[in-house]
Amino acid sequence: MNQLEEFKALGLSDDILTAIAKKGFETPSAIQSLTIPHLLTTDKDIIAQAQTGTGKTAAFGLPIIQMLTSRRNIPQAIVLVPTRELALQVTQELISFNTHDLSIAPIYGGASMTEQLRRLKKGIDIVVGTPGRILDHIRRGTLDLSAIAYLVLDEADEMLNMGFIEDIEEIMHAMTGPKRVLLFSATMPDRIAALARNYMHEPDLLKVESQHVTTDLTNQIYFEVREGDKFDALTRIIDVEPEFYGIIFARTKIGADETASRLTVRGYAAEVLHGDVSQAQREKILRKFRDRTINILVATDVAARGIDVGNLTHVINYSLPQDSESYVHRIGRTARANNDGVALTFISEKEQSNFKSIENFLEKEIYKIPVPAELGEAPEYKPRSYNNKRGDSSKRRSFGGKRNNNNGKKGNNRPSSPARN
Ligand code: AMP
Repeated sequence: MNQLEEFKALGLSDDILTAIAKKGFETPSAIQSLTIPHLLTTDKDIIAQAQTGTGKTAAFGLPIIQMLTSRRNIPQAIVLVPTRELALQVTQELISFNTHDLSIAPIYGGASMTEQLRRLKKGIDIVVGTPGRILDHIRRGTLDLSAIAYLVLDEADEMLNMGFIEDIEEIMHAMTGPKRVLLFSATMPDRIAALARNYMHEPDLLKVESQHVTTDLTNQIYFEVREGDKFDALTRIIDVEPEFYGIIFARTKIGADETASRLTVRGYAAEVLHGDVSQAQREKILRKFRDRTINILVATDVAARGIDVGNLTHVINYSLPQDSESYVHRIGRTARANNDGVALTFISEKEQSNFKSIENFLEKEIYKIPVPAELGEAPEYKPRSYNNKRGDSSKRRSFGGKRNNNNGKKGNNRPSSPARN
């Protein structure tokens, strides 16, 4: 199974494929499959409907980096994002794909103006910024717009919620030269649609069509945990379950390898399955898992396809998959053969928005359980909007996911305040 073939088929060049291999990505996400070939083969504006966590930074970042072939030390692309955290996150992600020696830097409000002016003077090819500060630089004449080829509006609906719409309009108004506009938004409020009408040129709409799937069969629970505490949380869960027999899902090959080797070092009977594991090795590992020589399988989504093992006690989403369908495939494994297994999802702060879209997709209650006391408080999952009907509020789950235990806290008491600040 050569996972890079799928990325290659999207039109990505060899140097970009090398960067992808380094990241440990196995297959393109749905939004990447839609967006990347479009950006590489046409010159049209796009509106892409996608949530954070679906791989959208790579969806626009990989083709942009591929197309900006050399460092010019003048802004060639601007990515507008709603928050400073996202500016840093997106910058980091773009830098990890940067095989063309481009200069990529964040420009956000609250940071030192002097330092930003120094960076801009030195030269930045891709600017990732928050609208207020970008506008500030445009007004001062410190951000040269003459070479901009791409303008990306990332999380446009969120920028609208945060009151940035006028700033964005002014920025778009100031950019008179020819450029491509790529608008990413999870929802399409009127004001964003109007922005597209007024400042974009006949954009193509790219939307991932999701198939509806029901998942009545499985006990689904989650807890909030800091990224750095995930491993300890995992071992806690394995330790409290006397007959633990489960699959731990990782998002990348590197993540899967790392978790499996940490488990092995601690003496757990774990093996890893991902796209680089040979067919012969894969069969050997699956045999060991079926006959319970090992009780823990750490796997990526691709590698777990076709694994048909019954009576799992747990499916653990150590990291969230990139789309809701993969979540359903993962947890479906606990539902085999009237099994009473538990699907447990770890939610770090970065994963909250993607988890919200999975919940909305499922239209199913996912219960919250408290994080183990010794791991400390993690950022609370507070979705901005939550439309699902909620069911029986008397059910409880405890840590580890057993039923009929009152240690659990229910997770459906959700305020509608913003998840980010
Ligand atoms: P984003 O939606 O851009 O915030 O991405 C969320 C996370 O998914 C980041 O950690 C990315 O590095 C990761 N990611 C993006 N694309 C893929 C992929 N094709 N396979 C696995 N992980 C990915």
